Amino acid sequence: MFKMQLHWQIIIGLLLGLIFGIVSALMGWGQFTTDWIAPFGTIFIRLLKFIAVPLVLTSLITGVASLSDLKKLSRIGGKTISIYIITTAISVSIGLVIVNILQPGNKVPYDMQSKLQETYQADASYRADSAQEVKERGPLQLFIDMVPSNFFEAASNNRNMLQIVFIALLIGIGLIQIPKKKSKPVLNVFEGLNDVIIKLVDIIMLIAPLGVFSLIAQTINKVAGNDPNQVIELLSALGFYMITVIIGLIVHMAVTYTTLLKIYVKMPLKTFFTGIGPAQLLAFSTSSSGATLPVTMERCEDELGVSEEVSSFVLPIGATINMDGTALYQAVAAVFISQAIGLELNLLDQLTIVVTAVLASIGTAAVPGAGIIMLVIILEAIGVPSTGIALILGVDRILDMLRTVVNVTGDATIAVTIAASEGQLRPPKKIAD
Ligand code: ASP
Repeated sequence: MFKMQLHWQIIIGLLLGLIFGIVSALMGWGQFTTDWIAPFGTIFIRLLKFIAVPLVLTSLITGVASLSDLKKLSRIGGKTISIYIITTAISVSIGLVIVNILQPGNKVPYDMQSKLQETYQADASYRADSAQEVKERGPLQLFIDMVPSNFFEAASNNRNMLQIVFIALLIGIGLIQIPKKKSKPVLNVFEGLNDVIIKLVDIIMLIAPLGVFSLIAQTINKVAGNDPNQVIELLSALGFYMITVIIGLIVHMAVTYTTLLKIYVKMPLKTFFTGIGPAQLLAFSTSSSGATLPVTMERCEDELGVSEEVSSFVLPIGATINMDGTALYQAVAAVFISQAIGLELNLLDQLTIVVTAVLASIGTAAVPGAGIIMLVIILEAIGVPSTGIALILGVDRILDMLRTVVNVTGDATIAVTIAASEGQLRPPKKIAD
């Protein structure tokens, strides 16, 4: 029987969602869409989110325990974290070069600036409040936050994923160090649970096209609100800023990831992008690398040939700390806001952006809209008023979708790279067109 490939099904869902969203905005079907279409997307995203914590926990525990000794763990761990940080620093630098060349902030008309400030002021100060806590943190707060004081508290909120990663690493290390006779039954349980969760991903993905349709329709519904003209106005004022972010994201994918894949891994780009396509589409539709993680892992293992040992270690950590798209966006946004309000940034400021954007992206939760909250830290570091985020809030959702795609693509690229370096990359499945 003819069965359409998953990524085509998702693309069709996405396009239909787009069309429906536009029609619904034009016809004033906002309420109908919220009541009758959006819930399917919410259900889909909830299903993906609910398996995120158990997945990270079981896969990382089995991943670490299967590394069999601490030497191997520190080798792979060290390599993974270093490549994550280096690629993120490269992406921030790319963003900075492009935003300095294109100077999008100097192109927003003055009256539009004050209008944006006015429209988004309330929302901006709400987010600045959420960021206030972040701002007041000491330099080592990131490390304190990684360590949970209660297992269930950590597991009760997907935003605490870094704590779950920490718990899983510790349990995995503990398992390596007790006698095999004792660790084996425990490991069997985690492995069994891990298999069940991966099966659940297959089941949940059956409704992916419907979920994506409804998520996109509702996103457009929300962005357009009751006044589709507002979208056009926003796009014309902030279009150049958006284009700058998008060019940066494309350059990073085309240069950094392609170099790793072509030169280091020697994997044909078509194989990589066809294999990871459904995860990218999902990242685009959900704006959450956390929610996309189950699919990223499945695609890396099944389609790209990454061993379970590498994928179950590298990907959960990547989804939590490696956010190249977010870091690049944060750098561009910080410079854009400074330009728009007429603040000159010197070289030291730009270097501060590189360091803080790398750190802020590590601390950004893998959920929609988290990047803009962490942006406040960067703004503070370079002395730009945090309420400046009012300027870019209106189009943030669209950029969130795009940067999340890059976040997920970066995780997958590095999983493939680490697998290749460890001799743990099987020949990928032949993917039919
Ligand atoms: N939505 C992004 C992610 O989950 C984070 C961000 O807001 O930049 O990867």
